[in-house]
Amino acid sequence: MSEATSPKTVEPTKPLPRRNKGKRGLLVPYLQTILPWFAGLAMICSAVIAIDWLLDLQLPVVKRGPMIFGAVYATNLIRYVVFAGGAFFAFYVVLRRTGWFAQIQNSLASWSDIRREVLYSLSSLAIFAMIGVVVYLGKLAGVLHFYYDGIPTSQPYFWFTVLAMILIHDAWFYWTHRLLHTKYLYAKVHRIHHQSHNPTPWAAFAFHPVEAFVQAIILPIVALFMPLHPFTVVIWMLYMTGMNVFGHLGFELFPKNFLRYWPLYWHNTGVHHNMHHRCVNYNFGLYFNYWDLLFKTNHPDYQAEFERVTSREDKTMPEAAKEPA
Ligand SMILES: [Zn+2]
Ligand SMILES: [Zn+2]
Repeated sequence: MSEATSPKTVEPTKPLPRRNKGKRGLLVPYLQTILPWFAGLAMICSAVIAIDWLLDLQLPVVKRGPMIFGAVYATNLIRYVVFAGGAFFAFYVVLRRTGWFAQIQNSLASWSDIRREVLYSLSSLAIFAMIGVVVYLGKLAGVLHFYYDGIPTSQPYFWFTVLAMILIHDAWFYWTHRLLHTKYLYAKVHRIHHQSHNPTPWAAFAFHPVEAFVQAIILPIVALFMPLHPFTVVIWMLYMTGMNVFGHLGFELFPKNFLRYWPLYWHNTGVHHNMHHRCVNYNFGLYFNYWDLLFKTNHPDYQAEFERVTSREDKTMPEAAKEPA
């Protein structure tokens, strides 16, 4: 990436209409999006339970499914609250007054935006827990491959799987994200995530149920052909959650020269995904920038915007602009 061009302020290319303002305006569209999918899931679960009871099959999904679902949901909820809640508290409550980190946009999200991000994230966690049950059943059936022996950190294969998991997920995210930006899928599915024009860490999992499914299904797909240690999954999930929260943080953590040097600019920044929420036809990558570089989908002003944000003398914003509406 070359020297920065003259910095320009990046404005939204096509701002979506503001919706869901206030409590009454948020709940109805939320339920309209979520309920059909969860009602469908409940019907499938009821049918499986009824068949199990009628034929006395004693299916493991009926016996242990709810427990696995509850355990995965609780674990993911802790992950979400610790990462998103921790980042929100640190940056929106404590650090924003210090001016140590660059606030990317002039104003912060409103409370109704935050409510919407939390509600959709909580429903995504249910989809992730459902995939957790699929992983459990797949492992039980011998279709999905996990191994447990030895101290994994001393095995080269373990580190190979950590790297492979991250690179495969990065490619999966980029291409499914491009697909979600096609006209039909954007209108029906991905629009939910883009209701946040200036996201907060709480938007890390704010997805339509279909998008939550698409994102989580990569784990069982990889475990179909590559045996994974549970620690591999843990390290990948920590990095994934960290990058998701960083991309939606609203503050930039990297220093101003970060994009001037290879290979640093191969790693995405907070500004990169924040810009995607303003300029929806650019910046599709998750962890690394090479897919956007290769397919020329970086915003033309990405580096200039990054340097504008990180070069500001006063990284804080006027008090009036900082208060959530
Ligand atoms: Zn986003
Ligand atoms: Zn998008």
